[in-house]
Parts: sequence; structure tokens; C-alpha cells
Amino acid sequence: MTPRAIDLHTHTTCSDGTDTPTALITKAADAGLIALALTDHDTTAGWDEAAQAVGALDVDFTLVVGTEFSCVYVDPDGRRTGLHLLGYLFDREHVVLRAERARLRESRTGRAREMVDKLSAAGHGVDWERVSELAGGGSIGRPHIAHALVESGSAASFEEAFHGLIAKGSPFHVPKQDLEVLQALDLIRAAGGVPVIAHVLARTRGPVLSLEQIEHLIAAGLAGIEVDHPNHAPDDRALLRDLVDRHDLIATGSSDYHGDRKTTSLGCESTPPEMFGRLIESASGGEPIRSPGR
Ligand code: AMP
Ligand code: ZN
Ligand code: FE
Ligand code: FE
Repeated sequence: MTPRAIDLHTHTTCSDGTDTPTALITKAADAGLIALALTDHDTTAGWDEAAQAVGALDVDFTLVVGTEFSCVYVDPDGRRTGLHLLGYLFDREHVVLRAERARLRESRTGRAREMVDKLSAAGHGVDWERVSELAGGGSIGRPHIAHALVESGSAASFEEAFHGLIAKGSPFHVPKQDLEVLQALDLIRAAGGVPVIAHVLARTRGPVLSLEQIEHLIAAGLAGIEVDHPNHAPDDRALLRDLVDRHDLIATGSSDYHGDRKTTSLGCESTPPEMFGRLIESASGGEPIRSPGR
């Protein structure tokens, strides 16, 4: 781990991570991180608990609240590419953005249910009751289905599930009704937040945006790029760093920590302090939450 890491992309039990917000904050502070962003999928449900946990720390620590929005880029020919957009320090009461989060979560539930129905109809041991229990009322996603498949012996591992039964392109995969990314950029900005594109060149996950398409998003208000991410190859990090330099964007580095549902550890990637400072200064929808300190 980078000493005094600043990790700006993490998940909890409010979406598809395995640590509660309190456990996540405690772990981060114990591990020596100095700042963390909470970015559960399509929800702000963990914000209050995380803020409370930061209030109880006796070390210097800064929390930035955010959300990872499930988005889609639609090109002029109608081709759709899924992508994830991190929104930091936006006003969670912004009515339209709040309604979009609710719509995205509902879409997640419907699609997860459809995937589970298809899987079980084909004899793959997974049932809705167990999957929704694993989701625990939070934003439900494929990691919960993968978990149930591994538990029942229908998949040997998460990797096998993600590259087989529940991969994009599998007959059991059902897409979500994601948010059009240009609309997401406008809404996050309107709510005073800072939009940063997540793992945009994570090629092992499926089709990714072209550099021209990323530049289109920059022109449309993208503030930053998650350059350092465990799923980014060194060459792609260099491409993104060049893009950041040319457009004077915020470059972040983050683990995308999901607790036990992924092998990446907290703080395995980190954001430079000056970039973290710029991110905070760019926000008008909320302030970071600082621990009382020693
Ligand atoms: P969904 O948004 O429901 O389609 O599921 C995507 C989620 O699965 C994201 O949070 C990813 O971080 C996670 N994910 C993608 N690929 C893998 C993998 N190979 N192993 C574990 N988690 C993965
Ligand atoms: Zn996730
Ligand atoms: Fe993501
Ligand atoms: Fe994530």
C-alpha cells in the first residue's frame, strides 16, 4: 500500500462490498489511509453511517462521499457502451439525480431477478431468496449472483462466474437500464458534484470507450479520470495520464475495494494529495468530513 494513501473508490454492504460503512472506515484508518471516498453503486445509503464512523476516529482522516453511477455511452449509430461514472460531493437532495439513483437501483433489482430466473431455469443452482439476502437491501449487482453461484457449487470462483455464466454476452446476462452518461454529467454538475470517470480502460471487463469518446465526455463536463485502477494496464495508464495533462483534468488513483468479493486491497492505488485538493475545491454540493483528530 502507498503510505498515507488516498483511496477514492470503495464499496460497502450498501452495494456489492462486504464491509459495512463503519467497518470500512475503521479498516481504512487502521491501515494508515489518510483519506477515503465511499462510492457505492447508485446509492448514497452509506453516507451517514460512514460520517458517523469518521466522527469517532482518533486519527487524522478525511472522508469524501460519493456514488458510482451506472451509465451508458450512446454513439451516433446507437451503439451502447456501458461505463461507470463516479460523482463526488454532490447534493444528495437534488431531486432529479435522486430520482435517477432510485430508478437505477430498481433496474438493478429487476435485472438481477431476471438473471437468477434464467440461471435457475437452466439448472444452475441459485435462488432469488439467497441472492436478495446477500444483497441485504442494498444496490444489488452481479457480485451477489456470483457469490450465490460459488456458494451452490455452480461456479468454482468469482472469476469463473464473471467470465462464464454472468459475463456480458452470456445467455444468462441481462443488461441494466443505465443512465445516459451526458445526462449523468449534467446532473452531477447541477448537484454541485465532481464527475470522474471510473476504470474507463478496464479492457478485461468488456468493450471500452475510444479516446475520442472520452474527449467527448471531457468537452461535456468530465472533471477527472481514474488513471490508476487495478484493472488498468501500464500502457493504458500512460494514455490516460497524457489525456489528463492535455486537458488539465483531475487524475485519481483508487482500489475499487469490495471487501471479500475482490482481491484488491484498500489503498493499493492512491490519489496524489494535490489532485485530491483540486477535487475538493471543485465541489460545491458538499464538504469533506474530517475526523476530530488526535
Ligand atoms: P453489475 O454492475 O451488476 O453488472 O456488476 C458489476 C460489478 O461486478 C462491479 O462492481 C465490478 O467491480 C464487479 N466485477 C466485475 N468483474 C468482476 C470479477 N471478475 N470479479 C469480481 N467482481 C467483478
Ligand atoms: Zn461493485
Ligand atoms: Fe465500477
Ligand atoms: Fe466500483
